[in-house]
Amino acid sequence: MRLTDDRYSRDRLRLDLALRLIQHEARTQTIRRWTGLTDDRIRKLYRSYVSAGAGVRRHRGKSPRQAEFFMRSRPMQRDTSALASILSMFGVLPQAPMADAARILPGVARGELLCDAFETYQRVTPRPQITFEHAVYLATALASGAELQVHRCRHCEGLGVADPIALRTPECLACGRPLRLTAYRAAPAPAVPLPSLRANPAAVPRVGRTGAAGPKVGADRIPSSLGP
Ligand SMILES: [Zn+2]
Repeated sequence: MRLTDDRYSRDRLRLDLALRLIQHEARTQTIRRWTGLTDDRIRKLYRSYVSAGAGVRRHRGKSPRQAEFFMRSRPMQRDTSALASILSMFGVLPQAPMADAARILPGVARGELLCDAFETYQRVTPRPQITFEHAVYLATALASGAELQVHRCRHCEGLGVADPIALRTPECLACGRPLRLTAYRAAPAPAVPLPSLRANPAAVPRVGRTGAAGPKVGADRIPSSLGP
């Protein structure tokens, strides 16, 4: 009986996450990877959800794969820094780089956090330019550190994102000083639980004009419970 209950609640969590991903117009392969649901079940969810008139588009084909997208302009770099800060704060990013992040990162618990982070990004950014699929790509790229890396400003503590093969030292978008590469560090879980976005929308922090989510938010404050 207990086993059945556990299985039921696990399945419920997968379905809940799948519906959130559908609302964010995630691709089928993304939903499959993060929920573990079969294509058939995802198709059925789409059918029942989209036929209910939710106005959700279904995207097919491959998910985005280009790191340059995030570096192409100053406004996009600000958006990227904001989202990276929020991903870090919500514990989506691991404590240490993952060599095979595309395979290891996805999961139901982290998928919920990813949705929380993306919804926060949409709420606190004036004109959000990053789609959910690009947010998944960014989280995966930052987790592996091969294509994009999290940097921190030593002067104002703002977070930035940089391409590791770029020749120029990245600048802090807040103060213009050079950014330094942030090595992921294991850290104890925060004494105060991270705010639950859905339970308390007012708890969402403000993002400053730099796009970074404030000085005390970073990879060193990721809750240890979600490490690799
Ligand atoms: Zn700075």
